[in-house]
Amino acid sequence: MGFSKLTALISQSKTARDLSLLVLLVLLASQMVFLVPSLWSQHQAEGAALQRVQKSQLQAAVRNLDAKSLASAEGLISNELTGLTLTDINGKLLVSKGEVPELVEIYPQGGAEVRSNKAGTVDTVWRLQGADSALWALVRLDNSSVSKRTMSRTLSYLLIAMLISISGAIVALFTAARFYINPLNNLVKMLRESREASEGNIPDPIEYSETEDIDPLADEFNSLIEAQKKAARQVKVKQQYLEFAAHHDPLTHLPNRLMFEDALKVTIAEAMTGELNFAVFLVDLDNFKFFNDQYGHLVGDKMVAEVGNRLRSMMRDQDLVARLDGDEFVVIQKDVDNRAAAKEVAQRLMGVATQPYEYRGFTLKASVSVGISCYPQDVNSFEDADAMGEEIVNNASVALQESKSNGKNQYQLFNESMRSRLTARIRLEQDLKLALQEGQFEVYFQPKININTRAITGSEALVRWKHPTNGYISPEIFVPVAEEAGMIIELGEWILRTACKATYELQQSGYAGLNVAVNISAVQFTDGNLLPLVNKALKDSKLNPEYLELEITESAVMHDPEEVIHSLHQLSEFGMSLAIDDFGTGYSSLAYLKRFPVNTLKIDRAFITDISSDNDDVAIVEAVLGLGKHFNMKVVAEGVEDEEQLQFLKAQGCDIAQGFYISKPMNVIAYREWLERWPYGVEGTTRLEDAPTQLPKASGSDFL
Ligand code: C2E
Ligand code: MG
Ligand code: MG
Repeated sequence: MGFSKLTALISQSKTARDLSLLVLLVLLASQMVFLVPSLWSQHQAEGAALQRVQKSQLQAAVRNLDAKSLASAEGLISNELTGLTLTDINGKLLVSKGEVPELVEIYPQGGAEVRSNKAGTVDTVWRLQGADSALWALVRLDNSSVSKRTMSRTLSYLLIAMLISISGAIVALFTAARFYINPLNNLVKMLRESREASEGNIPDPIEYSETEDIDPLADEFNSLIEAQKKAARQVKVKQQYLEFAAHHDPLTHLPNRLMFEDALKVTIAEAMTGELNFAVFLVDLDNFKFFNDQYGHLVGDKMVAEVGNRLRSMMRDQDLVARLDGDEFVVIQKDVDNRAAAKEVAQRLMGVATQPYEYRGFTLKASVSVGISCYPQDVNSFEDADAMGEEIVNNASVALQESKSNGKNQYQLFNESMRSRLTARIRLEQDLKLALQEGQFEVYFQPKININTRAITGSEALVRWKHPTNGYISPEIFVPVAEEAGMIIELGEWILRTACKATYELQQSGYAGLNVAVNISAVQFTDGNLLPLVNKALKDSKLNPEYLELEITESAVMHDPEEVIHSLHQLSEFGMSLAIDDFGTGYSSLAYLKRFPVNTLKIDRAFITDISSDNDDVAIVEAVLGLGKHFNMKVVAEGVEDEEQLQFLKAQGCDIAQGFYISKPMNVIAYREWLERWPYGVEGTTRLEDAPTQLPKASGSDFL
């Protein structure tokens, strides 16, 4: 410890200072106790010795001189005597020298009272033996030399005593400082070490009264303890947080997959004792990607959090609601009596999830698909708990896939047949991937005619997949799979490019007015990349945009009309025309229809098929045609299969017809040949009066 540190400690330690003062005083006092009497007795002894010398000198002088010569006895008397009075027994003054003390009375027994005295002198009365008789001598003895000596000796002794005492006090001060401070320092050191080692053993604060000099140190000690306690608390909170974070999802604060797996194990263990039936629900938001893409991830996140919240608040405390990932939740419901009870819960889960969501002034509607698997009904592996857990979750997942592929917004209870369907679907997905790589697709064209002139207006491009082993697979089967697997983006681009290229080539070979309609999936539409993609396809194929029509299904358009209006305007400004496909099946809002920059409405095939027998369908077709007229849109009737339907549509004022009656979809070679054979020509190039009155027999491909 450095000197400055020590002095700093001394200044902090009042006790050390008091103690050293005490040591100083005790040392001084004890030295005084011994010193003063010894100095005094020394002084006395010296005074007495002086007096003895003086007395014997005076005695010698008195003995050797007669009374007369006593007066000249001065020379015999020591210089020390400042005054001398000799008196005979009768009181007669014999001799006087120097200052005469005031003599009041000489007592017969030899004493004398001296009234006053001077510093440095001693008055004394001696009985001397003269030549003839005894004399009384009153002597004022000058003992200042003795006093001086005593004084100087006293001073030097005092000085030494002071030095000794001060040294003692200093030693005491330093020792006390160390004695008092070191233990605290050790404590502080200990504390620091324990903190560095992050041990949980935190000492208790020191209790001290405020008068004690350890205040500053105790304060430091206590504040260190406080800091350490705080740090320990923070560590604990952090540990708790980490523990929480490891088992919970940060967005919804619901348990995560890890916690779900643990909870499932516990539930299974409980169920295996035979006291519990339970159900696992996998809940997945429908079209979540759409919400994310359209409204941004922030809104997507809020939606997920809200769904989680709603699901949680619907279930009881003993049930578990966890977020597995993305838009997928899982619910474990305990004490489920039977499948009917599980269905009820699924309905309630769907009910809360489909309530509208309010974000940034928008009211959004979402739906969920649910897959349910029940214990013990859907379990085969009863022996192994781990395998059982896996089986239950897999089965719920299979049921969920079934819900999704059946059109979403529904629940499905697991059954064995679902598994084979799912396997088939997974195989289809894999085959689709391969088909894309190996180019197993083809674009077919189905012509459309102007109902009045029967001239060809163009065609609809329809994709065909010739599976290497299973033959042709309907787009109604593989397009939804391609959409879900995201492959429709690549496939759609290829279809668009192929259709544009083929149409341009046909235009070049004499069918200048020919247009082409290409189906655009909702997935492509919301992908955000459609415009540049179309732009490139047109550029590369050299097809003029006015000959391209994009068909978007009514349900895709109505999913988020506001956003769609924006995209449609962008596409329309580009020069191509837009058609709403399968019109009449997607519950269009007329208010929106007015705002869509759409050129064509395509009446769904379902309404045309029964036109001759179903009055409702007639009413629908009439209504669509009326709408088309009102909004100045062309109306295309799909699925025209006979002359009667065609005549009816003509009478109703429908513009364009498409269907097997005119032609089935065909590959580009067959399409070219068909065009050559078609007697009414391509619109704008064939005059009405040249046209035959009957249609030739439908000549589309036979595979449909
Ligand atoms: P869509 O766009 O409504 O196409 C019309 C469907 O009706 C076609 O079925 C066509 O072959 C069929 N069709 C036309 N006339 C008749 C008729 O007189 N009678 C009957 N029974 N059917 C007729 P296809 O080619 O099987 O396509 C089915 C659906 O698959 C299409 O409906 C469309 O939604 C989708 N699709 C087809 N090709 C593509 C494509 O290239 N891209 C996308 N995204 N979807 C496509
Ligand atoms: Mg279509
Ligand atoms: Mg259609």
